[in-house]
Amino acid sequence: MERTREVLGYLDSKIFGRPFFVLFRLTRVCNLRCRMCNVWTKPDVKSEMGLDEIRKVAKILKRLRVPYIVLTGGDPFLRKDILDIIRIFRDVNIHTRIETNGGTHLDKELMDNAVDAGIIDYSTSLDTLDKEKQDMLCKGKDVWQSAVDSLKYAIKKFPGVLPHVNIVVSHHNLSELPELCRFIHELGAYATLAPVVLGEEENSPLFKGFDKSFTFTAMDKEIARDVYDELISLKKGGLNILDSTKFLNHSVGFIRTGDIKWECDGGRWYFEIYPDGEFGLCNEVSMNQNILAGDFVKEFTTRKYKDAVRELRAGCAGCTYPIFREPSYHFRHYPVLFEMMKRYLRELGRWD
Ligand code: SF4
Repeated sequence: MERTREVLGYLDSKIFGRPFFVLFRLTRVCNLRCRMCNVWTKPDVKSEMGLDEIRKVAKILKRLRVPYIVLTGGDPFLRKDILDIIRIFRDVNIHTRIETNGGTHLDKELMDNAVDAGIIDYSTSLDTLDKEKQDMLCKGKDVWQSAVDSLKYAIKKFPGVLPHVNIVVSHHNLSELPELCRFIHELGAYATLAPVVLGEEENSPLFKGFDKSFTFTAMDKEIARDVYDELISLKKGGLNILDSTKFLNHSVGFIRTGDIKWECDGGRWYFEIYPDGEFGLCNEVSMNQNILAGDFVKEFTTRKYKDAVRELRAGCAGCTYPIFREPSYHFRHYPVLFEMMKRYLRELGRWD
């Protein structure tokens, strides 16, 4: 049922130009201090929307016929009202994924309650097989074990097809990616690999880390093609790698040459809502407008809105985020859609 709804939502978006998914950043608060991310440097709890405002957002998304939402952060499980928020989206019948770091704040009871409240899918972060390295990357303690334990529990409990594991690819883990993906597959989850994006300083746009030790070295650039060829071959052989072959190939290009340009559809097939209700094409490009101001549903279809979005996209240098690139690839490139359909068919046995 859930997957059928997803497929119908995809068709609705493709035919009628509706947004297919919305990334809703509920908070910037995080219990980790990952060196490849800077979202935790701007926690600003006071500006977060409350439940009444989130209810209004849910109604707007429902009117826009958005089929799929990803609740993210910071860590969304750190919001005390997270279960109420999940219920709000369940009540308007929007398929909900939660994205977490799987940290020690996430106990079984909270995960059970999230499933009862209406979460369907689960994503977590894991960047290495080396426990000490994971602690070093995230400036935490027991980060690896906690993420793996939560993931194992999510695989059993969450009703979605398979949980995803978000890997930030950098100098620190490039050579171990095939092994890491095999481990994730054996656990029963999917891997998705986002090449690290670094900013110039701590105040660079959201999510752009600033630690230069993550930079790809000359040796990384040499081995990137071989590493990704192995990943592509593992994927062809049935290993659970969520990213399309197209994205994996583009990642090699980025690692080797820094090329981040692509044809983005931010503001059209997907967009992002920030904790205070401001929205944007993604985490980097804001519309500088609050989604609750005016009639966003009406505005979404206007020439003025479309022109503004187009202009912002044209002014953007690009990015490597699979969460935005992949939906565009699915909409624009039939081989990518075909790859996704093959995966869906493989998963038929798990459909509810
Ligand atoms: S290309 Fe630019 S606007 Fe589009 S998702 Fe990436 S950073 Fe955002």
